[in-house]
Amino acid sequence: MGPLSSLQWSQRFLQETPGDDQTDGPSRQVPGACWSRTTPFTAPDPTLRLWSDSVGLTLGLERGEAATLAGGPPVAGMACYAQRYGGHQFGNWAGQLGDGRAITLGEVESESGVFELQLKGAGHTPYSRFADGKAVLRSSIREYLCSEAMHHLGVPTTRALSLTTTGESVMRDVMYNGNKALEQGAVVCRVAPSFLRFGSFQIHAATGDEATLRALAEHTVRHHFPTHQVQDDDGVIAWAEHVAESTALMISHWMRVGFVHGVMNTDNMSIHGLTIDYGPYGWLEDYNPGWTPNTTDASHRRYRYGQQPQIGAWNLARWLESLIPLMNAPERLESVLDRYGEVFNTHHNSMWVEKLGLHQWAEGDEELVQELNSVLQNIETDMTIFFRLLCDVSGPNVQEISFAFYEESDGVEAAWNQWLTRWWGRVEGNPDRTAMRAANPKYVLRNWMAQLAIDAAESGDYSVCEALEKLLSDPYGEQPEQEDEWFQKRPEWAKNRVGCSMLSCSS
Ligand code: AMP
Ligand code: MG
Repeated sequence: MGPLSSLQWSQRFLQETPGDDQTDGPSRQVPGACWSRTTPFTAPDPTLRLWSDSVGLTLGLERGEAATLAGGPPVAGMACYAQRYGGHQFGNWAGQLGDGRAITLGEVESESGVFELQLKGAGHTPYSRFADGKAVLRSSIREYLCSEAMHHLGVPTTRALSLTTTGESVMRDVMYNGNKALEQGAVVCRVAPSFLRFGSFQIHAATGDEATLRALAEHTVRHHFPTHQVQDDDGVIAWAEHVAESTALMISHWMRVGFVHGVMNTDNMSIHGLTIDYGPYGWLEDYNPGWTPNTTDASHRRYRYGQQPQIGAWNLARWLESLIPLMNAPERLESVLDRYGEVFNTHHNSMWVEKLGLHQWAEGDEELVQELNSVLQNIETDMTIFFRLLCDVSGPNVQEISFAFYEESDGVEAAWNQWLTRWWGRVEGNPDRTAMRAANPKYVLRNWMAQLAIDAAESGDYSVCEALEKLLSDPYGEQPEQEDEWFQKRPEWAKNRVGCSMLSCSS
């Protein structure tokens, strides 16, 4: 364990892919580049607020160095840059996007592999377009707490090492309705094998830059998919299948825990199948497959909970199109989409086996799941509480799960008892409770829980953040002493509160 300067820094991405000639500079198009060297801003009053011991341990890094983790100056070995990528946003090609509010410090070689350390909110980059490259405390807490919570839930995700406040105020219009206000600036240092996205590849295909696309693909497989190569069609297909499989696995985990990403644009899809870019995400409380937390998406609800698996396929198709220049027989890429579908279905079925304690998938289970899906929507019912109570029921009796209901349940009790009886018969009165407790978390980062942590932190009290970080490090544990406070349905105040039921991309 040592300070940042003691880490083994490397610059493989900068060495192996083409970049921008210019360092820093104004927002601009940077054709032909995968990155631009960028200097993080220097925070006026950097203060370290949150620190993940487990990420620190993985990197061999001791707690501290607020100034560097809130921006500049970089320590020896670091070579800071912003990545260039493009993407489809809400179904439309948006051209060059890039790291507008993220600056990579460098890559670190650790005992557990190589990790990229990236500051989110450390100032302007050539990809900031019309914005400032800063981030506010509210969105930084949401990213920090959720990425750590997801990790402990067993959902593939980027990690968060630290959260620092910068001492600077940042102007934001949270709901894009003309109500601007100053908020505290903050920076999260996030960590992943890389922050390469589907859009990192798309931008070069879209501009017909085959040489850069090839250099990027070769770099990516050499370091991150070392059993693969992209020299021939078989190689590209095998690599693409690997990416499809990890994407399918990630989304099946989202469905299991009730996570809604909120902005599944192709620039927000990690090439590693990691959950990335925590913005207006949310957690299903009332089980409603049509729900999206993102108010920007309220009219089409493209990124609603129930549609995430299909959007995963759509995004993958756009990424596969970007690989066409690498293929002699590009029509073969279609098979990768079939693979995505197959793998998703396999994970989906085993997810239901675990969530319902079925021991194994059998004839008729599809119907059992469909019926549950419909009975869950009869009245507002809390997803997390329902599945967790189901782990412990002693028989098919609706009273045992009624704590999950937000409304009077008189009219739906018969339907529930009917479903519970069918399920109880299916598991022969002996559900696999161990599997159920490992698949149905008791504690997730409910939207209002994150908001309570934010409200306290905005007035200088980080104890709620710390309490939630601890609680959510053991989401499947019973933690009986925490039940009264956190194993609870959404409180009334949170129903229509900005930050709980309504979120925007403003950060
Ligand atoms: P998102 O889909 O929210 O991850 O962001 C889409 C694009 O907008 C990315 O290129 C971001 O880097 C950029 N962006 C979002 N917020 C900011 C900001 N505050 N400053 C600069 N760029 C931003
Ligand atoms: Mg993004």
